[in-house]
Amino acid sequence: MGAMPARARGPRVPYPAGGRLVPVTADGETIVVIEDDRNISDLVALYLRREGFRVLQAEDAEKGLAYVDRDRPKLVVVDIGLPGELDGLDVCRRLRSSGDVPVVMLTARDDEVDRVIGLELGADDYVTKPFSPRELVARVRAILRRAGAPNRTEPSVLEVGEIVVDTGRREVRQGETVVALTSREFDLLAYLAVNGGLALSRRQLLDGVWGEGWYGDERTVDVHVRQLRKKLGDALPLTTVWGVGYRLG
Ligand code: CA
Repeated sequence: MGAMPARARGPRVPYPAGGRLVPVTADGETIVVIEDDRNISDLVALYLRREGFRVLQAEDAEKGLAYVDRDRPKLVVVDIGLPGELDGLDVCRRLRSSGDVPVVMLTARDDEVDRVIGLELGADDYVTKPFSPRELVARVRAILRRAGAPNRTEPSVLEVGEIVVDTGRREVRQGETVVALTSREFDLLAYLAVNGGLALSRRQLLDGVWGEGWYGDERTVDVHVRQLRKKLGDALPLTTVWGVGYRLG
């Protein structure tokens, strides 16, 4: 294991390409905020509206999901703790099974487990209460910048051992099988593949995949690596480089 270098067909270019400098134009784009604490919901909505977003506030999961269905928002902010049948993790799960709208979770300080589960379910980021609305807005902007960045990367097909990473189709194949990855898991794998053979620190991976505006926890990388290992098993020639981070190939 580990001897197989990533082999690039097509141009070898940084991934994702240059998108971080593209400004966000909020332009009345919709964000759904799902939070039962009225004060927090209003504060978040206030700050997002100031940025030019149209904000729909829902106090429970059912109403929030209905807004998502109806209004196709650019992003969803969801609190983990919600009243009623479904909590914030259920919301993440449902959003992931039906599309790839970015999700930011709000979590309580001692909710480490929920946070990890949320990231595994495909949430893009989280902020821990109490948070500053400014920080939340910064994260929302960073996510939308990435999501809205024109893809200037020439599509390429990277082979890593038995795994094929197709950045044009945003598809990962293992033999004939397409492996279902979340959007973030795909970005991480593609970034590792483009930099195949190099040991990358968690910080480098955060900067490269989550974006330099992302000032979250480095353990986020570990959570996503664990998911990649779970989904790709032994076919993934990914080595943990102690004291550094990870190396693919
Ligand atoms: Ca709550």
